[in-house]
Amino acid sequence: MPPDRADTAATAKRSTPGAAPGRPGATTGGGALDRPRDPLPTHVQDLPPLPELYADVLHAGLRSLALDLAPDALAVIDAHVRLLLAWTEAINLTAIRVPAEVARLHVLDSLAAAPLLRDLGISRLLDLGSGGGFPGIPLAAALASDRTLLVDSVGKKVQFLRTVIRATGLERRVAAEPERAEAVARDPRDREAWPAVTARAVTGLAELVELGLPLVAPGGVLIAWKRHPVEDELAAADGAMRALRAGRPRVVTAGVAGLEDHRLVVVPRGGPIDVRFPRDPAERRRRPL
Ligand code: SAH
Repeated sequence: MPPDRADTAATAKRSTPGAAPGRPGATTGGGALDRPRDPLPTHVQDLPPLPELYADVLHAGLRSLALDLAPDALAVIDAHVRLLLAWTEAINLTAIRVPAEVARLHVLDSLAAAPLLRDLGISRLLDLGSGGGFPGIPLAAALASDRTLLVDSVGKKVQFLRTVIRATGLERRVAAEPERAEAVARDPRDREAWPAVTARAVTGLAELVELGLPLVAPGGVLIAWKRHPVEDELAAADGAMRALRAGRPRVVTAGVAGLEDHRLVVVPRGGPIDVRFPRDPAERRRRPL
């Protein structure tokens, strides 16, 4: 049996202790930015606290999701948001800079999947195209996940994610890797290894099914964050779902005030998946499923 990355995602080996997340300026390859920058913060206590309105919006949303988060989960989410706001001026992790909006459009939107993952008894997840850490970090915190892998192809984003992981003491449970989804899906440690694969704002559903479903363990689910209406995208993904033998997709409403048009598309893993999936990007373009 291949070593199972769902079991090893957060080992020290993968956390790359020498990644030096606090010194991005000289090595990020940001190109256009040649002016000197302040080092990006790695310690949450040096950052301004979040305003009251942030907490009000967050807690109202948690109530409507019927989520009762432990204090340590709330502390992880708080630290993540403060670091996000501090870093995003330099490396553009989000266009949303108002804390109460971050609470709603990033944190609560991410947590919209927590009730259904809890119902499914799933707490291990791989977040594809995690970017600034959504939905992976809030979900890892809320589900008290013992294994979460955040994947993004952009090194600077992974540098941020590793800073959050370290600042929140999640190193033993959460890891971040600078890899492309295609490479992860071919890695025997990850292929068919994850009870849930999540992806928000990453690509169209058809491509996501091809990239994400091979990572899902039998009995698991791929969850894609989408906006209403999803019918056209579901129809366009029909060929991909058939080719990858997906189960019948389910569309779930987020259930948070202000996110009325947000939808989760839940695609269950179905039959065995052909080893040729996912194909490389050129082949996907040439022959859409
Ligand atoms: N999920 C985050 C980020 C969305 S932006 C959020 O919702 O806020 C899409 C992210 O996917 C980017 O950070 C980009 O670098 C990453 N990405 C796009 N294609 C990818 C691929 N093939 N493999 C890994 N990451 C990818």
